[in-house]
Amino acid sequence: MITAQEVKAHAKRLGADLVGISPMSRFEGAPKQMDARYIFPNAKSMIVLGFRIARGTLRGIEEGTLFSNYPSMGYAAINQIYGPMVLWNLTRILEDEGHETIPMLNANGGEALNPVTGKFRKGWSRPVADGKPYPDVLVHFRLAAYMAGLGEIGWSKVFLTPEFGPRQRFAILLTDAELEPDPIYEGKICDRCKLCVKHCHGNAISMDESVKVTVAGHELEWNKLDPLACEKGIQGGLGKELSPFDGEYPRMYGYGRAIEGACGCIRACMMHLEERKKIKNLFHNKFRSTPQWEIDRSKPYELTQDVLDYYGKKDMIEDVDEYIKYNARDNYGTANKKTDKPNPLID
Ligand code: SF4
Ligand code: SF4
Repeated sequence: MITAQEVKAHAKRLGADLVGISPMSRFEGAPKQMDARYIFPNAKSMIVLGFRIARGTLRGIEEGTLFSNYPSMGYAAINQIYGPMVLWNLTRILEDEGHETIPMLNANGGEALNPVTGKFRKGWSRPVADGKPYPDVLVHFRLAAYMAGLGEIGWSKVFLTPEFGPRQRFAILLTDAELEPDPIYEGKICDRCKLCVKHCHGNAISMDESVKVTVAGHELEWNKLDPLACEKGIQGGLGKELSPFDGEYPRMYGYGRAIEGACGCIRACMMHLEERKKIKNLFHNKFRSTPQWEIDRSKPYELTQDVLDYYGKKDMIEDVDEYIKYNARDNYGTANKKTDKPNPLID
C-alpha cells in the first residue's frame, strides 16, 4: 500500500513545491454543486499540489518592460502545462499501485456554477439522474488547498502559504488510496494590513465587507470580492493606467489578460509578507526599488527621441496595423488572398 509519505516524495520529485492531503470527509457540509465526492464516490483522499509562481515572473510587469511573462510562465503555463505534467506522472504511480486517480488541472470547463461569479448557470446542463448534481461539479481549488492543510485564504481571497505567501497555483488528484491526511493549517499569515485593497487597480477587493464560510468545521472569512471588477482590473486597471498597450494584449497559452500583474492581491501582499518575514521563500534583493508606475493616458501617443534616432533614421518604423494586415492576407489568411490591394510589406 502506497503511503502518504511516499506520495509526497513522488510529487516533490516530479516537480510540485507543496503537497497536502485531505480526507474526502472534509467535504461534509459543502454545497452539492461543489462536493467532489459526487465526482468520485469511492475516492478516499484528495491530494493537493502547489506550484510556486516564481517571483521573477512578476519582474517584467513591476519594471513595466515585459508583460508576457507573468500571464504565461506565472499563470497559464503553470495551470495548463507544468501542473498537468506532474498530475499525469503522479497518477501513473498511483494507478500502477491499483488506485484509480483523477488528475484535475486548474482550468475552467463546463461547470454548472460560473467559476468567476459563483452563480448557478441556468440553462447550462441537466443532472444525469435523480439526486445527482448538475455537471460539471466545481471543485474550489483554494478551499481544497485549505482542506489539505496548505495554508489559509487571505483577506484578498488569494490563498496564502507559509512558504510562498500568495505566490502559488494548485492542482488536485482524487484517489481511492487511503492516505494519512494533513491537519488543517492553524497558523496566521494574513494580518489584515489591507494593502491588497489599497493597491488593487480594479477596486475589486472590499475594505470592510466580508464573506464567511465554514469548511471542515472551521469558519473562514475573506473580503466580499467583486469578481467582475477584478476581471476588468487585471487588464490594466480601471483607467488602463497599468497597461501600456493601446490594443488588446496577445494571448499566451490561451491566456494573456493578467497584465496588471496582480498589483494588490499578489505583489503588494508579497512585498508586505516578505518585509515582515512571514514567509519562508525570501530573497537577497528587495522586490520594489522604485514607486509603482502609472500611464498618464491624457498625454498623446508620441515616439521617444531614441526611437526616432535609431529606427526612424533607418526607415524602420511601421504602423501597428501593417504586419497584422500582411498576416491576414499573405501569411495565414489565404481566404483573403484574392484582394488586389498592395501589401505594404511585400508589394
Ligand atoms: S495584503 Fe495584507 S490583508 Fe491583504 S491578504 Fe495580504 S496580508 Fe492579508
Ligand atoms: S488581480 Fe488585480 S484587480 Fe484582481 S483583485 Fe487582484 S489586485 Fe485587484
